[in-house]
Amino acid sequence: SFFQDLGLAQPILKALEAAGYDTPTPIQQQSIPPLLQGRDLCGIAQTGTGKTAAFALPSLHHFATKPKARQQYSCRMLVLSPTRELAAQIADSFRTYGKFLGLKVDCVFGGMPIFSQKKRLAGGVDILVATPGRLIDLIEQRAVTLKDVEIFVLDEADQMMDLGFIHALKRIDQLLPKQRQTLFFSATMPKAIAELGNRFLNNPVRVSV
Ligand code: AMP
Repeated sequence: SFFQDLGLAQPILKALEAAGYDTPTPIQQQSIPPLLQGRDLCGIAQTGTGKTAAFALPSLHHFATKPKARQQYSCRMLVLSPTRELAAQIADSFRTYGKFLGLKVDCVFGGMPIFSQKKRLAGGVDILVATPGRLIDLIEQRAVTLKDVEIFVLDEADQMMDLGFIHALKRIDQLLPKQRQTLFFSATMPKAIAELGNRFLNNPVRVSV
């Protein structure tokens, strides 16, 4: 099958063509149709499988077909990543696949001055990629609110646990709207990670690659 067969909006197909992609990878083939229907998803997948596009493309389709004015301090999508490097890569992928959509994508992580991040978030963004610790700091400083999040992605859940982010994740969970789409990815799925997933997910489709 090809990307054209998946029902993605035209500006997204155009961006994929510009990137030189025509065939979805296995995780993209399994994930994109249920995600376009609004289902939650629990994925066991490593980096390098095309996981980022698997969650970015259907999310971008959602924003392409349901545009909304940006609200101050608000975001419509939150992607949590355990590391700065991965967060920056994810944000770049959203910018590449979404380059014809006019969406605002931002990326915030620790080790960078919080002041400039606060300034950027004040006008609101569509897609926010963040590491958990810095996100909590920004929330505490009233620089961002999660009350309008429609799509929540927790990436590399096993690494999140290893890096000690469990407490931060539970706090963030409490601040997210109950009504939302949730995508949960991990390279491995031991019991503790599966239990963490159950906390966030609602009747998810399960994919494994
Ligand atoms: P990821 O697993 O999301 O880190 O993606 C791994 C690499 O594969 C990235 O460099 C992507 O740009 C690339 N990629 C993702 N999906 C496709 C695709 N369908 N066709 C070709 N390359 C892809």
